[in-house]
Amino acid sequence: MAVPFIDVAIIGGGPGGLALAQGLRKNGIETAVFERDHVRADYVQGFRLRIRQRAIDALEANLPPHLFEAFLATVGRSPAESVALDENFNRIEHPGWGGTQEDAHGGKSLSRITLRQVLLSGLGDSFRPGNTFERYELQPDGTVIACFADGSAVRTNVLVGADGANSAVRRQLLPDFRIFDTGVRRLAGKMTLEDAARHGISPLLLDYNAGIRPSTGHSIMITSHRVDPEAYARYGLIGANDASHRNIAGSHFDNTTSYVWWNTAYEAGELGPDSVLETLGGAQLLEVLLAHIGHWDERIANLIRYTDPSTVAYLKVRSSEPGAIWETGPVTLLGDSIHAMTYFRALGGNSAIYDAGLLADELSAARRRGKPLLEALRDYEDAMRAHGYEAVQTSLSAMQNNVAAGRALHTPPRNQSPLP
Ligand SMILES: Cc1cc2nc3c(=O)[nH]c(=O)nc-3n(C[C@H](O)[C@H](O)[C@H](O)COP(=O)(O)OP(=O)(O)OC[C@H]3O[C@@H](n4cnc5c(N)ncnc54)[C@H](O)[C@@H]3O)c2cc1C
Repeated sequence: MAVPFIDVAIIGGGPGGLALAQGLRKNGIETAVFERDHVRADYVQGFRLRIRQRAIDALEANLPPHLFEAFLATVGRSPAESVALDENFNRIEHPGWGGTQEDAHGGKSLSRITLRQVLLSGLGDSFRPGNTFERYELQPDGTVIACFADGSAVRTNVLVGADGANSAVRRQLLPDFRIFDTGVRRLAGKMTLEDAARHGISPLLLDYNAGIRPSTGHSIMITSHRVDPEAYARYGLIGANDASHRNIAGSHFDNTTSYVWWNTAYEAGELGPDSVLETLGGAQLLEVLLAHIGHWDERIANLIRYTDPSTVAYLKVRSSEPGAIWETGPVTLLGDSIHAMTYFRALGGNSAIYDAGLLADELSAARRRGKPLLEALRDYEDAMRAHGYEAVQTSLSAMQNNVAAGRALHTPPRNQSPLP
């Protein structure tokens, strides 16, 4: 049977892959996104992203105007002002906390669910869930055949690996590339603002970005995400109404409820062994954290105590090692697949969307203005590596400063690619 052909095949329908598909379609370039999962069910779906101007600009360039309008109208709000408190709820001075970083938008807070809905809008049959990429084969005529787990295949001029930190495309293209466990563990959870009112949570923790900086131990970052449900209804972007979300219990895909959330990070082992913590449910994880901070002021402890346990999760923080260079060919990489980074600067998703903008520009120069395809891909890769590797490095440093006050972290043995 003949293998179907598509000009640009994208593996992975995360923010990077979907933004690229939108950009290519806007430029009249034939494309399809091959995504493994029917429903994106990783727990971080329930949390918001901090958004930066570079991603907003890329979305404006790559989305049709009505979708960019929907994106802007449904962006959530986070507090514009920040406060630093010690564990006794005394205000403290904390230089560097709350300052605007580069192109960060302090007051904007982007629901991952909403972003996904916006990016999927209008893709129609170009979005092909249920396709797990396995491997590719380079063809003598310069095309590539991408092979999927169900035995199907597609031939393409450009294969884009946008399949995240554990990318199967990257594993074949760059077999020595390493993703490592940084030795940092993150706990986070959220509470609806309705519940916060019921439990009398202090307005200082709801109306400000509050950094709790204890005299000893690790800090907790608290902020809120406020949304306008009417805007969601107006643009048909209510997450829980999505047919593919209907059978999923809990509030995982609810993007119309405002909430306060917190996150904290410890070094591996400080809260207990991974082998135990990874088996615990949300309520037990909250108990573990309270055993460490239960003596803090009740106003802080209550936020943790009354957190919705179904939103609590324990995460091993991983990073890639920046610096890989390869010879440009018809297979390229984008987003976390090539520059996975710690979340400490809120740059990973923004960088993936920014990459999508760079690649859409280069591919449209190739398809519409006669730029040689390999030259376009090389220019994309140079630009992507320059900003992506720097972001990986600064995200690692930010993590080090936050969790270990700048001293070296106790990293586990470095033999952990691919991810479990
Ligand atoms: C706790 C936490 C907080 C964060 N906060 C922020 C923030 O505030 N701001 C920010 O910018 N970033 C943040 N990030 C980073 C951000 O989530 C990622 O950088 C971003 O999701 C990367 O997008 P991507 O499209 O490259 O990859 P992904 O989002 O990982 O998407 C990859 C897609 O590929 C699919 N896939 C994987 N393998 C295959 C396969 N073999 N075949 C087909 N499909 C496949 C997956 O199912 C997935 O849909 C945070 C990350 C974490 C963990």
